Amino acid sequence: MYCTNCSNEIDEKAIVCPKCGAATPLYLEDKKGNDSGSIGWGVLGFFQPLVGFILFLVWKKEKPKSAKTSLIGAAISTGLIIMIYAILIIFAIVMASQEPYYY
Ligand SMILES: [Zn+2]
Repeated sequence: MYCTNCSNEIDEKAIVCPKCGAATPLYLEDKKGNDSGSIGWGVLGFFQPLVGFILFLVWKKEKPKSAKTSLIGAAISTGLIIMIYAILIIFAIVMASQEPYYY
């Protein structure tokens, strides 16, 4: 499948183009009220965690499958960001606590 906007090759399960953010036919289908629970919503949530959380809140009742998928994507992404920060902070503490070397 190719993006209708920028001709970038995109995953057939993607709901938006990762390059330009244009909606794909799958996105429009899902928007019609089809609770596809597509993995595309998870991908969107992963790259746009805030959008993922908002979609979850909006769709909780009417589209539980898609809502859950977008939330999972957002949760994984948020978890990764927190992990990266935690590692950086630990690394900084370790570096700061090192005794300076004198030759
Ligand atoms: Zn595109």
